Amino acid sequence: MKIKAVGAYSAKQPLEPMDITRREPGPNDVKIEIAYCGVCHSDLHQVRSEWAGTVYPCVPGHEIVGRVVAVGDQVEKYAPDEPGHTLGGYSQQIVVHERYVLRIRHPQEQLAAVAPLLCAGITTYSPLRHWQAGPGKKVGVVGIGGLGHMGIKLAHAMGAHVVAFTTSEAKREAAKALGADEVVNSRNADEMAAHLKSFDFILNTVAAPHNLDDFTTLLKRDGTMTLVGAPATPHKSPEVFNLIMKRRAIAGSMIGGIPETQEMLDFCAEHGIVADIEMIRADQINEAYERMLRGDVKYRFVIDNRTLTD
Ligand code: NAP
Repeated sequence: MKIKAVGAYSAKQPLEPMDITRREPGPNDVKIEIAYCGVCHSDLHQVRSEWAGTVYPCVPGHEIVGRVVAVGDQVEKYAPDEPGHTLGGYSQQIVVHERYVLRIRHPQEQLAAVAPLLCAGITTYSPLRHWQAGPGKKVGVVGIGGLGHMGIKLAHAMGAHVVAFTTSEAKREAAKALGADEVVNSRNADEMAAHLKSFDFILNTVAAPHNLDDFTTLLKRDGTMTLVGAPATPHKSPEVFNLIMKRRAIAGSMIGGIPETQEMLDFCAEHGIVADIEMIRADQINEAYERMLRGDVKYRFVIDNRTLTD
C-alpha cells in the first residue's frame, strides 16, 4: 500500500514529502495508523549520515504511537520479512510484527506525550534500573534535552537524589520543575568542584564530544558514568588515572528490550510520567532539526502525523 511520509534522499538534502510503500500485513503483522511520532536527536544523526551507513531514501522515526487498524490471523511466529530497509514513523502507517507492539495505559489525551517514552524514556530508564538508581543514591543527569529531561523525571520517581548538569543557564529552574534536587551549570568550575567524588551514578546524554574527565572526577569509589549520548565524532580519551584511583567505570547503554520497554511504559503510567513536548506539523521537521541543534526545544518535538496529507 502507498502512504505519505517525510524523509530524505541524501545526507545533504532537507527532508521532504515522499510516497512510500508498506507491505500488506502478513499473518503475524500488526498494521498501525500512526497518530504521533517523537523527533529524536538520533533521527538527525541518521538523516545526515553522521554515524555513517544510512541507506536512502531514509524515513526516520522510532518514537511511534498510534492505533491498531488490522492484525494478521496468526500471531505466534515470525514471517519472513520483506527485503530492503525499514522506513520509520514520519509516515501515516507502519506494519510490524506483533512482538514489537507495546500496550499504552496512559489516558488517551496523553498519547502524543507518550511517544518520546519509546526512545527517550527507555534509553534513560534502562540504565537507571541497571545501575540501581533509588533511595539513598546520588544520581547525575548530564544534558537536559529529550533524553535528559526524561532521565531527571525517572530518577526522581525512582527515589534517587537527582542532580541535573546543564550548559544552559536558562534551564536551571526548569530542571528543578522536572524533579532535579540540585542543578549544576557544568561550565562553572566552582559549582562542579562542590560535587567532587560524590556520585553513585551519572547518566550522560550529551549529543556532542566533550571532556568526560569533568564528570568521572565527580564519581565516588566504584561509581559509574554511563554514556547514552552518541556523538558523530569521538570524545577526547578520558584520563585513565581518574578511573584507576577510585575503581570508577565508564559504561554505555543502548535503548532497552521490549519487555523492559513495556515495564517502563507501565511505570510511567503508574507515576503519571510523560514527556514535555512541542507538537509540530510534518512540514516543520527541517526547522525542528535546526532548533534541536540549537537546544531550542522543551524537550521533545512530536510530529502530529495527521498533518501528513497531500
Ligand atoms: P537533544 O534533545 O538534542 O539533547 C542533547 C542535550 O545535550 C542538549 O539539550 C544539551 O543540554 C546537551 N548538549 C548538546 N550539545 C552540547 C555540547 N556541545 N556540550 C555539552 N552539552 C551539550 O538530544 P537527545 O534526543 O536527548 O539525544 C541525545 C543523544 O543521545 C544523541 O546523540 C542521540 O543520538 C543519543 N541517543 C542514544 C540512544 C541510545 O540507545 N544510547 C537512544 C536515543 C538517543 P543542556 O542544554 O542542558 O546542556
